[in-house]
Amino acid sequence: MDLYSGYINKLIEELAALPGIGNKSAQRLAFYLINMPSDRVRHLTKVIMDAKENVKHCKICCTMTDQEICPICANKARNHKQIMVVENSRDQAAYEKTGKYDGVYHVLNGSISPLLGIGPGDINLKELMVRLEGDVDEVIIATNSSLEGETTAMYISKLIKPTGIKVTRIASGVPVGGDLENIDEVTLLRALDGRTEL
Ligand code: ZN
Repeated sequence: MDLYSGYINKLIEELAALPGIGNKSAQRLAFYLINMPSDRVRHLTKVIMDAKENVKHCKICCTMTDQEICPICANKARNHKQIMVVENSRDQAAYEKTGKYDGVYHVLNGSISPLLGIGPGDINLKELMVRLEGDVDEVIIATNSSLEGETTAMYISKLIKPTGIKVTRIASGVPVGGDLENIDEVTLLRALDGRTEL
């Protein structure tokens, strides 16, 4: 027997499909939303749609931004000769929060996973190679230490080697399979400082 109406069940189902939200949280959120004044719900819906429709990818580093060029790429005070390659904008945010990295980033928007059918052509590698035609001293590979992250790191390093540009990999102080965004600043900085040349 269904406890709730079809509409509520549908809402709970949709919310539960979001990452990090289990069935219980989905129920709590669903009831909260339903009890919210209509104009607040309308506002929330609009904020989500606005974000969805206006956020694009930086023309240089591919991170999510609402400008053509993101604030980090546009910042002349950063070291544009040092590029840190990360899997997604969340990992970039984790490093950015430490406030200790003054280079720039390249966001792959994924990692190579033969198992999931994600190949090198499915992540932002072409864009990275175009950037390397410019003046670059070092590429720091900061993909996760999961199987996919390591596969991606190896692939990128092989790709860059012939260009003669220095390629480094962050130290494996980062727990295996750990998402960079969940790791504390000290560990992130230690991983960055302890990076080794590939
Ligand atoms: Zn950018």
